Amino acid sequence: MITDDLDLAKNILNSGGVIAIPTETVYGLAGNAMDTNSIASIFRIKNRPYFNPLIAHIGEIEQLKSLCNTIPVEAQKLIDAFWPGPLTLVLSKKKSVPNLLTSGLDKVAVRMPSHPLTLKLLKSIKYPLAAPSANPYKYVSPTSAQHVESQLGSAIPLILDGGQCKIGLESTIIGFEDNDVVIYRLGGLAIESIEEVLKKPIAIKTKSESDMLPGQEKKHYSPGKKIVLIPFAGALPSLVSPDVLITWKPQESSHKSISLDGSDISGASRIFSLLRELDNPQIGKIFIELAPEKGLGKAINDRLMRAAYPF
Ligand code: AMP
Ligand code: MG
Repeated sequence: MITDDLDLAKNILNSGGVIAIPTETVYGLAGNAMDTNSIASIFRIKNRPYFNPLIAHIGEIEQLKSLCNTIPVEAQKLIDAFWPGPLTLVLSKKKSVPNLLTSGLDKVAVRMPSHPLTLKLLKSIKYPLAAPSANPYKYVSPTSAQHVESQLGSAIPLILDGGQCKIGLESTIIGFEDNDVVIYRLGGLAIESIEEVLKKPIAIKTKSESDMLPGQEKKHYSPGKKIVLIPFAGALPSLVSPDVLITWKPQESSHKSISLDGSDISGASRIFSLLRELDNPQIGKIFIELAPEKGLGKAINDRLMRAAYPF
């Protein structure tokens, strides 16, 4: 059922059930983050391996105390600047947080989403929500209630409808290692914005390092199609028909572009719907131009590279 009835949503969650919720990043598959049975249901419905930990979503800063032991000074600065918003912080975990949520790690990932409906829901319940993207494992993330319905509609009792996701990319994930702030996942908050607040450059875990991190698989977001990536502003293949070419911004050489106006904001909000449209047997090989490597362009390119990873 697709609805915006918060009471119905709350009742299902309170009895240990799993529903889909809207956030500003993507739709999440949500259940009580402190209840092992609810967490297990999320893994099962998504067919997600248990070694891939989930993010706990909170509605009040106060709730952080029930999840983590200490908040590093730099984490607090980021919380003040960006919560609620598309930023996840990986912090040291309290013993009472279920190990299933964190895949046995001694850290827990936490975020406060900014979507008004979900924020209202979170403020009305007494526990955080575990909420990975509401799609089957390795498939494209959903940015509308209809996307969720098309794949998980029969597996869950309720999809809370909050319209199209404004940002359209998953959260940026930040961790604190010794004295360093590191990025584990590029996402809906640009690195430049984070560096501006911390007044220092931050390290992105290199590919080989991040391969060892849970949930950073090379192949993900797959529309089951061969995708050929073209460097931004590279030579667009002249023999390619405009039907099978997706450029970064509108161009005569293609019928479709990722961004409608060349901005990273527009590109981010459209990328997952575009990848989803490619999941159509009528479409063969497709050529896609990468985004300029700045702002959200870096995260968009990260998703494109994983969507294009050979199968
Ligand atoms: P999502 O798939 O959007 O739910 O994001 C979950 C991702 O957050 C995981 O795949 C990890 O990359 C990251 N993550 C969650 N919990 C932790 C943790 N405790 N330590 C490190 N990374 C984490
Ligand atoms: Mg996901």
